[in-house]
Amino acid sequence: MNISPELFDMDPDMSDYTTFSHGLYIGGKWRPSSDGRVIEVIDPSTEAVIAAVPDATLADAAAAVEAAAEAATGWRETPPRRRSEILRRCFELITERAETLAALISLENGKALRDARGEVAYAAEFFRWNAEEAVRISGEFGLAPSGANRIVVDYQPIGICVLITPWNFPAAMATRKIAPALAAGCTVILKPASETPLTAYALAALYEEAGVPPGVVNVITTSSPGPVTAAMLADARVRKLSFTGSTGVGRVLLAEAAKHVISCSMELGGNAPFIVFDDADLEAALDGAMIAKMRNAGEACTAANRLYVQAGIHDAFAEGLRRRMAALNVGPGTDSETECGPMITRKAVDKIDRLVQDAADRGAKILCGGAVPEGRGYYYPPTVLRDVPAEAAMAHEEIFGPVAPISRFEGEAEVIAKANDTEYGLAAYIYTRDLARGMRVASKIESGMIALNRGLMSDPAAPFGGVKQSGLGREGGQKHGIAEFMEAKYVAVTI
Ligand code: NAP
Repeated sequence: MNISPELFDMDPDMSDYTTFSHGLYIGGKWRPSSDGRVIEVIDPSTEAVIAAVPDATLADAAAAVEAAAEAATGWRETPPRRRSEILRRCFELITERAETLAALISLENGKALRDARGEVAYAAEFFRWNAEEAVRISGEFGLAPSGANRIVVDYQPIGICVLITPWNFPAAMATRKIAPALAAGCTVILKPASETPLTAYALAALYEEAGVPPGVVNVITTSSPGPVTAAMLADARVRKLSFTGSTGVGRVLLAEAAKHVISCSMELGGNAPFIVFDDADLEAALDGAMIAKMRNAGEACTAANRLYVQAGIHDAFAEGLRRRMAALNVGPGTDSETECGPMITRKAVDKIDRLVQDAADRGAKILCGGAVPEGRGYYYPPTVLRDVPAEAAMAHEEIFGPVAPISRFEGEAEVIAKANDTEYGLAAYIYTRDLARGMRVASKIESGMIALNRGLMSDPAAPFGGVKQSGLGREGGQKHGIAEFMEAKYVAVTI
């Protein structure tokens, strides 16, 4: 069942991907689930079944924890330089196979190839960055205030980590966890989203090729994520849960982890405001809005969810955004001309449409899009709304689709209050030519990340994460990402 050679010898012609099989990747071996059941993988552009992956049972989960435990000592004792070289090799292999991986991501997730290529490059960077960080983990040495002893602090791998990732970035959300965990010296079990398991398995084959020893990375797919995760967390050898997904599931997992006092990192939902002041460069703001809104067809936790535009520039911005959104090519992600692919599921389309119709019912004006098209595939058209009232559901819920709701504002204090009127606090965007105002507003917005005159902020070298209901902890950045996978050990010593 080793998929590595077949997968990477393939021409990125989509039809080939429908034929290869996958196994649970446990202890460096590919295997079916213990009861032989499978999960079907759907192409969201056609609604056709394209593959089937094993549906892991509790016994499979236990085997994965066992494999991670068996590999733990060897990996934590592997010299940092060697770990770094293996991580660097992962970066190189992902980069070499970028086209194949991008095609696979487009196929199972639906995102446009250009977005998938961007994701592969981003995913690879987590390995490059953490290869560089792996050899720079250092401790502390100081004198106790009493003068009686020295304080020595050593940073050690936290232990076995359970990693759970969503479908919207099938490669990058996994590498953002795996690379720092491995750099820190931990072994892991990854549970990718059921909608997009193929990328996770393809990457597992590649880690093996890069020299990651058996059991250091294990990958299991399951249609019972609750019980399977609970069983893994109940094993006393598991010391870390790192989750990326919705706030609702994050809350459930925090409660589960609390039973066993397990360290948690939570990258949860967002509701990003995109603020455009009158003095902004209009074209730059429109360019930024298209990236912040339409990267991954709006299926991003950092996606601009509420666009607040100051009165003086409002009409020009709304018309400019309508023109750009209406001109986008909608189609299968695997088609190189596509700029906006399908949504992940029919349920996602229904939710987006419900939010749009709710806003329209409350007085918002639809400038383009706004109706579910006929035919196969989970499509929703790029949609712009203006005069969206604060009580519209989309002002408070993640849209997670290609819908841009615009609201007008008059003053700075007013827009800061509106931007903060949400339980979320992941990302925010500000456009203004006045840098002092930009920094002032940035300091008052309650979010973990701000893009000032930019439509994109994600960078493996910067700490990614949210405040409020958007999460706990940070991924990436200098020391932040690795620190989530380490424990400080303090030694008091008299010399
Ligand atoms: P989701 O429904 O929360 O699922 C995320 C992952 O959790 C999937 O692997 C899912 O497995 C698993 N899961 C679901 N229920 C579980 C349970 N009871 N116990 C253990 N695992 C469980 O989220 P999604 O729809 O895939 O992703 C979209 C959400 O992720 C959005 O809210 C988005 O904002 C957020 N997100 C956040 C970030 C960030 O960095 N802050 C990044 C990307 C996405 P199944 O697939 O098998 O259900």
